[in-house]
Amino acid sequence: MLCPKCQHEDTRVLDTRAADVHSVRRRRQCAACGLRFSTLERSVREEVTVEKRDGRVEEFDRQKIVASLQCALKKGNRRREEVEALAEEIFAHLLAPKPRQLTSQRIGEEVLRRLKTFDELAYARYLSVHQTFASLEEFQRRIQETEQCHGDNL
Ligand SMILES: [Zn+2]
Repeated sequence: MLCPKCQHEDTRVLDTRAADVHSVRRRRQCAACGLRFSTLERSVREEVTVEKRDGRVEEFDRQKIVASLQCALKKGNRRREEVEALAEEIFAHLLAPKPRQLTSQRIGEEVLRRLKTFDELAYARYLSVHQTFASLEEFQRRIQETEQCHGDNL
């Protein structure tokens, strides 16, 4: 969503509320000029399909991704708006190239990439639930990478 004033691409969601059963109204703020504006978003039937690890294909389901984020973040003190804003970023990134089909692996990678900077504990939790690892070593290596990142930030 471009800023109507300066056309900057990066806008922050301040507030989300249902306008009716099929649409939501969001308050946004431009990250560049600070302009606040509202958008009305309507749900459309997704035209993207997802290939699962076992080869099954199903419709892309935003709610499933939101639910998995909420599950990973369950012990964090995150507001619903924060989680939804994070989910929006993930959807925007996945759907920007207008793919016909995504893989569940691609979705998982994108979720992990965002969670890694958003919440490390949720990142580790999501990793343990959703990723199938070749070995336990691979899992431990990823956890160690996370801890290194944390150390770098201090
Ligand atoms: Zn702007």
